[in-house]
Amino acid sequence: MYTTNILHRADWWDSIEDKPGFVQCHLCPHTCRIAPDHYGICKVRQNISGTLYSTAYGRPVALHIDPVEKKPLYHFYPGESVYSIGTMGCNLACDFCQNWTISQMGYDKTLSSNIYTPQEIVDLTLSANLQLLAFTYNEPTVYAEYMRDIAEIAVKHGIKTLSVTNGYISNNIIQEVYENVHAFNIDLKAFSETFYKKYSKASFHEILKTIKTLYELKKHLEITTLIIPGLNDSEEELRQEFQWIVENTSPFIPLHLSAFYPSYKRQYHMPTSHETLVKVRELAKEVGLSYVYIGNIAGVDNSTYCPACGARIVRRHDYHVHIEQRDVCLCGRKIDIVS
Ligand code: SF4
Repeated sequence: MYTTNILHRADWWDSIEDKPGFVQCHLCPHTCRIAPDHYGICKVRQNISGTLYSTAYGRPVALHIDPVEKKPLYHFYPGESVYSIGTMGCNLACDFCQNWTISQMGYDKTLSSNIYTPQEIVDLTLSANLQLLAFTYNEPTVYAEYMRDIAEIAVKHGIKTLSVTNGYISNNIIQEVYENVHAFNIDLKAFSETFYKKYSKASFHEILKTIKTLYELKKHLEITTLIIPGLNDSEEELRQEFQWIVENTSPFIPLHLSAFYPSYKRQYHMPTSHETLVKVRELAKEVGLSYVYIGNIAGVDNSTYCPACGARIVRRHDYHVHIEQRDVCLCGRKIDIVS
């Protein structure tokens, strides 16, 4: 690690022919057209003299070791710890963001940064004796080059990588960006274009495309929906979401229903009640999803049960995890958990 302000030339952009000095970024569906010296919506991709740079490359602002359940991923190496990194920036602008101090800000240009090369991130993971590495905290898409380069080195050391993402990425580059990323938790914030336009400043259908593509690429996939009272918790909308997941991916995709707490521009919004989450979980199960968990709230049973016989497979209490059965359930059904 060293201290500097070196910038990394971005990929996935081109110059705009009829606008000298302007560039267009193709990394996410915003396809920002960026004037000289300006940044894209994500605040970490900057046009400097007609070239697009990734200002987040090599500049993580969060480096922690977490339980993999905290991402949350419940069906991917349960009980393991994961080396976790995040940078500044995000390509969505959710007014309820729970991580806004890093996601809704760019870097302070007056400060120099600690630079970590991709190899150094992998070395930190290995020296912590970990086999899992997560791109999380803010939106990994906005530092796609850095994530891709870290993941490429990580796989050579047998490390599994995972991305906790809002799914807002250009569909035609998903395979390239995520070639060496094994597992995903995708935030499906609501099941409506109106919601995404109004509260996240993004297009809902792009998220669905990402989910379908990752599923087709056979990546390990889990989905999280933050239940925000009055904004995305109508029975009709949630039923549509759960049906869509069942029909377009699988009834065995783990779904995490997360409790909202007042945050960012929604300091005075009501938090999600325990009763609401339990009710929504029942709805998801009624629609056909087999693995539905409740997050961000204490006192719920988040153990995993076999969908065929009901036997407990993984016992969970907060972040304490005990695997009771591996690979195949006592009833003979294959267990939908990577471990
Ligand atoms: S990644 Fe950033 S700069 Fe590129 S299109 Fe998306 S928001 Fe704009």
